[in-house]
Amino acid sequence: MGRAFVYVILGGGVAAGYAAHEFVKRGVEHGELCIISEEPVAPYERPALSKGYLLPEDSKKSFIVHRVLNFGQIRKSLIVESSMALATVELDMLAQEIGSRVCGGEDDPARLPAFHCCVGTNEERLTPKWYKEHGIELVLGTRVKSADVRRKTLLTATGETITYKILLVATGARALKLEEFGVKGSDAESVCYLRDLADANRLVNVMQSSSGGNAVVIGGGYIGMECAASLVINKINVTMVFPEAHCMARLFTPKIASYYEEYYQAKGVKFVKGTVLTSFDFDSNQKITAVNLRDGTRLPADMVIVGIGIRPNTSLFEGQLTLEKGGIKVNGRMQSSNSSVYAVGDVATFPVKISSETRRLEHVDSARKSARHAVAAIMEPEKTTDFDYLPFFYSRVFTLSWQFYGDSTGDVIHFGDFLGNSFGAYWVNNGHVVGSFLEGGTKEEYEAIAKITRLKPEIEDLTDLETQGLGFALTL
Ligand code: FAD
Repeated sequence: MGRAFVYVILGGGVAAGYAAHEFVKRGVEHGELCIISEEPVAPYERPALSKGYLLPEDSKKSFIVHRVLNFGQIRKSLIVESSMALATVELDMLAQEIGSRVCGGEDDPARLPAFHCCVGTNEERLTPKWYKEHGIELVLGTRVKSADVRRKTLLTATGETITYKILLVATGARALKLEEFGVKGSDAESVCYLRDLADANRLVNVMQSSSGGNAVVIGGGYIGMECAASLVINKINVTMVFPEAHCMARLFTPKIASYYEEYYQAKGVKFVKGTVLTSFDFDSNQKITAVNLRDGTRLPADMVIVGIGIRPNTSLFEGQLTLEKGGIKVNGRMQSSNSSVYAVGDVATFPVKISSETRRLEHVDSARKSARHAVAAIMEPEKTTDFDYLPFFYSRVFTLSWQFYGDSTGDVIHFGDFLGNSFGAYWVNNGHVVGSFLEGGTKEEYEAIAKITRLKPEIEDLTDLETQGLGFALTL
């Protein structure tokens, strides 16, 4: 049994949704495009899973929608108030994270179909009906178990062979498991990972049954930080455990990290740093009662969330495509070592002009833009130049919200009010600004730091840059 398509997108996550949208914009014909995804639902905005999806249902009574004026442009802002937290989120970027509360006007936490791609980026919401109307075949709940790039075929777990002319690999990544670090027991009922909708549903159930109890969050990256905030909002006591000296160690400086850690501590979160989980304690029903750490600490736990990193899903292409830095190596057109295969999103290692090297990024903006770029290169090759991407990453927790652009290499210059809620940093490497970070900025301020990072201005005097602070970006 088999079917043939001109274009096949393998994977049904963020990049797949944006790629499909771009295919339609560029005039793909009915019946030419197919998306195959292991997930049972159409592509959705994955960041919602650690934000709006985890909001407790009882926060609905204190839900207030505000419209605010921002620099002459009408911006909408939501204030989500629960008894333990106040979170301010912007509708234009965050509709996908609040989901039905915004789109359907209902009171429940974000649920599909409210955050299907590309909601939140001022594009239409691509529900299964949209794919049908545009003649796109959605093959859901179907894992591809092997690929043959020479024959241009994919074999699904249901035994179907799907043939393509052009393949767009958007298989993303999977969460690393504790077992890969020698710790057993992570299949226990109250141990949660968070990568897809099934994980998020499980996490919501475990949170609901742990209300008032203790959670241990393993990992101090953005999954750990965002989940910890959601746990607090769900009235669960949280201890975060990670081996580094501070949270978000790959990006934050000690000074930036201490701001967020103090904020979390004020919300009741405890931090145990410089150590790792070594084992779980179970009761006679095989329910987790505590976690044991390498430094000898034993932490009581009703539930555990593990966010210790991801691994790109490249295994189907090992030995067939060139891999680099853990991902599928592509050129500036997102084309792999086989000219009929393109790769985008978390699974792609691509040339990042601003840092003059190839990088694999694990951020939603990169997934969206690389997907669009690959489709442009496929459909209109003569009009498409090399991808010129400025790395961008953001996170929102409680009332906090930050954005980062570029590279976090070189000297760090902090600026702003670290006692208030508007501060930031520039990274200066070889005499040029290469990265910038801002907490609590306005749209215009974020645009300014993005612009300055792209322009890479020369810096003669670091002290002067520190004095000027955000003003340097705003006046450039
Ligand atoms: P994914 O969205 O992971 O999609 C991959 C798809 O491929 C999945 O549907 C998967 O099932 C499918 N697949 C894989 N292998 C196969 C196979 N063999 N057969 C069939 N299907 C397959 N980034 C930010 O910048 N800011 C954030 O705030 C943020 N928050 C996040 C919160 C969470 C909870 C998570 C998990 C990620 C977050 N990210 C965030 C990262 C962002 O979501 C990813 O960078 C983005 O989803 C990558 O898109 P992708 O399409 O490459 O991969």
